[in-house]
Amino acid sequence: MLNVSERLAALSPSETLAMSQKSSELKAQGIDVINLSVGEPDFNTPDHIKEAAKRAIDENYSFYSPVPGYLSLRQAIVDKLKNENSLDYTPAQIVCSNGAKQAVCNVLLATINPGDEVIVPTPAWVSYFEMVKLAGGVNVPVNADIRQNFKISAAQLEAAITPRTRAIILCSPSNPTGSVYSCAELEALAAVLERYPDILILSDEIYEHINYTGLHESIAQFDAVRNRTVVINGVSKAYAMTGWRLGWIAAPQWIAAACNKLQGQYTSGPSSIAQKAAEAAYRGSQQCVADMRVAFRRRRDLIVDLAREIPNLKVNVPEGAFYIFPDCNAYIGRNFGSRKINNSADLAMYLLEEGHVASVGGLAFGAPDCIRFSYATADDQIKEAMSRVKNALSALK
Ligand code: PMP
Ligand code: GLU
Repeated sequence: MLNVSERLAALSPSETLAMSQKSSELKAQGIDVINLSVGEPDFNTPDHIKEAAKRAIDENYSFYSPVPGYLSLRQAIVDKLKNENSLDYTPAQIVCSNGAKQAVCNVLLATINPGDEVIVPTPAWVSYFEMVKLAGGVNVPVNADIRQNFKISAAQLEAAITPRTRAIILCSPSNPTGSVYSCAELEALAAVLERYPDILILSDEIYEHINYTGLHESIAQFDAVRNRTVVINGVSKAYAMTGWRLGWIAAPQWIAAACNKLQGQYTSGPSSIAQKAAEAAYRGSQQCVADMRVAFRRRRDLIVDLAREIPNLKVNVPEGAFYIFPDCNAYIGRNFGSRKINNSADLAMYLLEEGHVASVGGLAFGAPDCIRFSYATADDQIKEAMSRVKNALSALK
């Protein structure tokens, strides 16, 4: 019988994209839904970046690029890593891909063997678990709840390590929690990992610039783990360029070479036009990044205040990214007429269908007690959305 592969059958669809899709479907039916599900900046790509892309078209950047990206873009990324992060790389250590999403997946496919364990501090971005499965790896979630601001401790990390541990995926600032690991916290994790030289560290830093604590801290700064850390980043969030699809890794040479080989067989280099746009993003003024961060911070304060007015939600103050991740456990098990809310995915669906606010249930992030709201949207939309959520939750008995 014709059927999809076992690999595909075991894969869950992306819950973030699925909730966004459902929200669009309801909107198409004329329902006024506020979409706080998918995480992407609501700003337009800055003009100087768009101009660079138009120039690239006119200058005939229309041919295949080198598989890891143009040297000029990789050099711009090397310079960015040096100037912003004080990290030394060469262009041969950079591989550009179709978004940070492909970059993470490349690294896992290039390094994980069937049965290898990958430690995933949870709550975690939905796609990590599925990418680990695609690579044949075994997810080892290490949970941190809201009482520890969703950040794992060094002791928790150490307890999760086994002889089969091959990698850990860190994400700071974090999707879905907005938590930011401090320099000291990263140093403590690095001190544990120092004792396990066979563990690779994937450090997803896509929210680097949406950080309200000041300086961004990368675990790659610690010499003890530097030669087995892969930094993952891209232009989607910092420069409001989600649709351009341009992400990258900065990695030990052998991992960059492996990703280059892999990518050369299944996608080639990313879009030539997006690459020229990304180069302009890194080479141009960074004022746009600062301006967007100011807006995100104002919205963070707004949504946290409003969410805290809702009875029985536990809300912490996220220090980065553009998500809040309240604990909504008090509402699980309640009913709306004959409709029972069995888990946070049910709650998100209820809020969408009855409250007309799209969110994402925490289950998909490995946190069944929580729910994610993206606040990358206009202030008045945030106000209206939180008012609707408050009303919808108060109707649950
Ligand atoms: N990592 C995290 C934590 C994310 O939230 C996202 C957003 N989808 C990505 C990676 C991928 O970003 P992109 O593929 O748009 O560069
Ligand atoms: N990172 C975003 C989110 O979590 C984009 C959607 C996705 O790729 O998961 O909503």
